[in-house]
Amino acid sequence: MALTGLDIFKLLPKTNCKKCGKPTCLAFAMQMAQKKASLDECPDVSEESKGKLGSASAPPIKLVSIGRGDKEVKVGEENVLFRHEEKFYNPTGVAVTIGDDLDEAGLKERLDKINALKFHRVGTDIEIDLAAVVNKSGDAGKFAAAAKYVSANTHLSMILDSNSVDNMKAAIGECGDKKPLVHGADNGNLDGMAMLAKENKCPLGVKAGSLEELADLAENAKKAGVEDVVLNYDGPGLKDNLKGLTTIRRAALKKNFRTFGFPTINFVNDDDPFQETSNASAYLAKYSGIVAVNGLEPWQIMPLLTVRQNVYTDPQKPVQVEAKLHEVGQPDENSPVMFTTNFSLTYYTVEGEVEASRIASYIIPVDTEGTSVLTAYSGDKLNEKVVLKAITDSKIEEKVKHRKLIIPGLIAVLAAKLKDELKDWEILVGPKEASGLSSFLKSNW
Ligand code: SF4
Repeated sequence: MALTGLDIFKLLPKTNCKKCGKPTCLAFAMQMAQKKASLDECPDVSEESKGKLGSASAPPIKLVSIGRGDKEVKVGEENVLFRHEEKFYNPTGVAVTIGDDLDEAGLKERLDKINALKFHRVGTDIEIDLAAVVNKSGDAGKFAAAAKYVSANTHLSMILDSNSVDNMKAAIGECGDKKPLVHGADNGNLDGMAMLAKENKCPLGVKAGSLEELADLAENAKKAGVEDVVLNYDGPGLKDNLKGLTTIRRAALKKNFRTFGFPTINFVNDDDPFQETSNASAYLAKYSGIVAVNGLEPWQIMPLLTVRQNVYTDPQKPVQVEAKLHEVGQPDENSPVMFTTNFSLTYYTVEGEVEASRIASYIIPVDTEGTSVLTAYSGDKLNEKVVLKAITDSKIEEKVKHRKLIIPGLIAVLAAKLKDELKDWEILVGPKEASGLSSFLKSNW
């Protein structure tokens, strides 16, 4: 079991010197117990206590990194089972597989598509993280050639997947300093795979069809000197795998079972592309550190990245856009002016509809602490005073010569009060749904 705050406190100097930035040793101990402070922040802790506290203060799930530079993928180091308890920190890495049984033209075509899997959603660029080279051919030369081609032609981090030590050795030598995940260690090849991972300073993916076998593999990998392990519980189906992933996460967090204190990976493969994306989304939510899929069409990947974006936001902090005047297109002094709230999803839905209308406009996202229109209105975060302030701060009156303000149809009841505050302005009640904006603008502007 993890040490409690009191257990940790007993091993601290108890001088309340504040060098760690906390007011007392007890406060520091409590933060450490919650994994919000680390032992090296206390400069005066004794070597003896360090020994006792060192492993206890390590994160229950180790942070494992794959690749280097901008696209280095960090997975693990999660502290909770449920995101409402705290938040999830290191987003699941999304990988797309590329088989070494493709010819050169096939490799190029597939990798070009993989490299292009980039999207823009609610103001953020999102893309996949890894290309997983799979030794489908069973041939060392083909695996090495595919690894070499992918390594040279992608900005993404890499996974090498094979159960042959010889083939893996051939491929890993072609990856330069990419630091791929060496995946495919099992009962039959663990020693050789562990040696390769260790020699090349790469993380090792161990794979088993039962949790007991997986635990043995992880332990033996550690004994062989591998520090970074990724666990692949490859059970008989989705339900069983999700149960396994939950057991692994629970054992690491609640029982401090260090053997399972590593991130996980799942390869997802289904003949039905919709089912594949659906399964991958389920793994992503509970609790896969990396999901590797075969499908590479944007309509398969975009939903997966959207799920990830949603799961890995902080549920206690709504995603917000900056509450300043936003220009859509190249608006001029005659362009429409409207406001909405600064909740990202709301704002970008409105912005998308305005863009689709092809009528250049000004949008003022009113600061409602990242809440949507109705939530903000019912919580009195969106009222006539707040809107007046937003209009004034935006200096929109210097940009347009008209005085017409479009307000969200959901808060039509605010129109009269707004008219009292914004005396020079005509209030136009817009549609209730953003989807109605395009036709509203076309018929009213
Ligand atoms: S630095 Fe160490 S001794 Fe000083 S208050 Fe923090 S925990 Fe206590």
